[in-house]
Amino acid sequence: MAQASDYEDWRKWHSARYLFSERTKHFISELDIDLEKLLNSITFGMARSRAKERVIEAIIQGKVGGKWTSQDTPASNMMNEILSYPLARMIVSCVDDEYLNRRYALAEAENAAYYLQNEDDIEVVFTVGRELGLKADKEGGSIAVPFEDFVETTKDMSAKEWKLVNQDLRDGMIYLDKRRYIRILKEKIYHSIVKDLPVAVNKDIQGSLSGMVADVEVKLDELKDTFVEHDLGEVEEGAYPPCIKGLIKEQAGGKNLSHEARFALTSFLHTIGFDEEQIIAIFSKSPDFRLDLARYQIEHVIGKISSTEYTPPGCAYMKTGGLCKKPDSLCGTDWMNHPLTYYSYKKKKGED
Ligand code: SF4
Repeated sequence: MAQASDYEDWRKWHSARYLFSERTKHFISELDIDLEKLLNSITFGMARSRAKERVIEAIIQGKVGGKWTSQDTPASNMMNEILSYPLARMIVSCVDDEYLNRRYALAEAENAAYYLQNEDDIEVVFTVGRELGLKADKEGGSIAVPFEDFVETTKDMSAKEWKLVNQDLRDGMIYLDKRRYIRILKEKIYHSIVKDLPVAVNKDIQGSLSGMVADVEVKLDELKDTFVEHDLGEVEEGAYPPCIKGLIKEQAGGKNLSHEARFALTSFLHTIGFDEEQIIAIFSKSPDFRLDLARYQIEHVIGKISSTEYTPPGCAYMKTGGLCKKPDSLCGTDWMNHPLTYYSYKKKKGED
């Protein structure tokens, strides 16, 4: 059983903020709580309610707001926050939906990144990083990360900011400021959470959580209703160039699209005839989708906000930005210089 000193140690470090960490997992297992009681006893009713709240916050807001996470939170509430995490994972696993797994994991990672950014003690940040295999040392005013750790962690991050040529690389180490270190740590946190979902949930767990699972499914369905496929009229998906097909696939698969990639995709879709709602429907399948933000960005690109209607970038820009992926033989012709040219050619060919 956990001792009072264990709790004080855990509390000093985490304050219910990094619930995915090994330290917290160890702390929870040391509590040795009976699963049947955790699922059904009135004693843990608040922990279960908070668990449902965590998942619904992830669905609606795309992030989990920390509730009982300050240093002076009463111990009982902090314990509810701690126990809500494994319970929330059980609820997500009962729903058993790939999209929810990713959205929930991303929301928890957002929450953790918020606290890490505001952490006064950099050693807490490093401890979380080390647990996840992202070693770091303080070097002067920077944080030094081994080259290979950096490459492994940023492999799905396509923004220019993360390209190797833009890094401060010295003697096998990449030097980052705290904001950038936490950004890549968030990526690690996301992957560590999502890889363990779904957890095994037997019939007893499913039965005990069925009411909460039903509530979560209603919210998930409401969100998915925004995914409705719009009538694409004359648009021909088969004529999309490989770069655009790749971007659509990546964002639907949970990859974090760079600003440049979002711009390229939005401006291309708008030019071939998608309206705002149709573009939102494409982006809404991404696990980090936030309607307000997506709408603002799209309205900016299609000229509703800025009154400038942006044209999609050509192949040269796409290549420089690492957005030209899997070009095919048509891409290899000497006259191919724009994704729109590819699209028009393919579409015309299809009509012949
Ligand atoms: S060559 Fe042009 S059209 Fe083809 S994939 Fe690359 S950017 Fe897209």
